Amino acid sequence: MALLSLSGIERHYVTGDVVVRALDGVDLEIEEGEVVMLLGPSGSGKTTLLNVVSALDSPTSGTYHFNGELVPSTPPIRTLNRRHSTIANPSLQLFGWLAEFIANSTLLVFTLPIKVILRWKVSTALEDMTGFRRENIGYVFQFFNLLGDLTVLENVLLAQDIHGGRDKARAIEMLNLVGLEGKEGRFPSELSGGEQQRVAIARSLAKKPRLLLGDELTGNLDSETTARVMKVLVKACRKEKITAIIVTHDLALTKYATRVIHIDSGKLVGDEPGGRAALHATMDTAEAVAGAAVGAVEKAAKSVGGLIAGAVSNMLDTGSEDVEEA
Ligand code: ADP
Ligand code: MG
Repeated sequence: MALLSLSGIERHYVTGDVVVRALDGVDLEIEEGEVVMLLGPSGSGKTTLLNVVSALDSPTSGTYHFNGELVPSTPPIRTLNRRHSTIANPSLQLFGWLAEFIANSTLLVFTLPIKVILRWKVSTALEDMTGFRRENIGYVFQFFNLLGDLTVLENVLLAQDIHGGRDKARAIEMLNLVGLEGKEGRFPSELSGGEQQRVAIARSLAKKPRLLLGDELTGNLDSETTARVMKVLVKACRKEKITAIIVTHDLALTKYATRVIHIDSGKLVGDEPGGRAALHATMDTAEAVAGAAVGAVEKAAKSVGGLIAGAVSNMLDTGSEDVEEA
């Protein structure tokens, strides 16, 4: 059984008369243990999808099961928001207001109890969504959101406290796992950007989420640090058997994934294995470049592609094992 199963998921934003279909019929299954990279241009719906997956937001329609159970969501509440039509003839304005006042007062008798019930349903649904998140989801953001007055270890412990169970041994284990042993007593300002993001990753892992989500989490790190942080993250997820969905717009990072999903205009437009897919992209580029340079010497291009593929393959085999300084 898939850990996540989304079927026909839509998320529409209505602003005035404009409807934005941020998610436009998403069908997706993700198995336990997969490390998925989610790629797509700006505005394609990546953050919206993560928000729905983490139950920070509710889909407009469609079903979402997590570990076989329906994920809580808020009921649609737009039905009672009546639209006021404007009356063109000013002499009819007063009559219009009066009619509307009478209609509203009469309607109130019927709509008030419904509104109260809906409000109650929404607030219990929001509580259920929070409970679902607390139990299952770890979220790593682009801005690490570490508390500057707390040490590295205290930041991780605080997250565990909020989650409902302090476990100092695990907190230290996770900090070691992301390569921060010996730095538990430092303050965030005494760490590099890459180290701070690794604290944020350790903080998310320390509560043992079943699903880890990252939204452009290396967006403000340089490319070298990004590669190191991603390696640490993927290694930690694999070791802890935590499923992950990581949003990025950096194609180079797909080599760390087990699966790569592309989204555009709210629709999933590509789904392929990671690592090897990145390899093929490299080979295609090598073939095109070599092909253009030496004319139609396809053989040479292929051997260049093969060499690069070999090098990337070696990098992949060895790369995921080391934790370097970031
Ligand atoms: P991405 O993360 O891929 O950049 P988003 O999921 O943030 O994209 O946004 C998808 C689309 O939904 C965009 O067109 C965006 O403008 C729109 N959108 C996102 N949030 C809102 C909102 N709260 N209200 C209206 N439109 C929104
Ligand atoms: Mg986004």
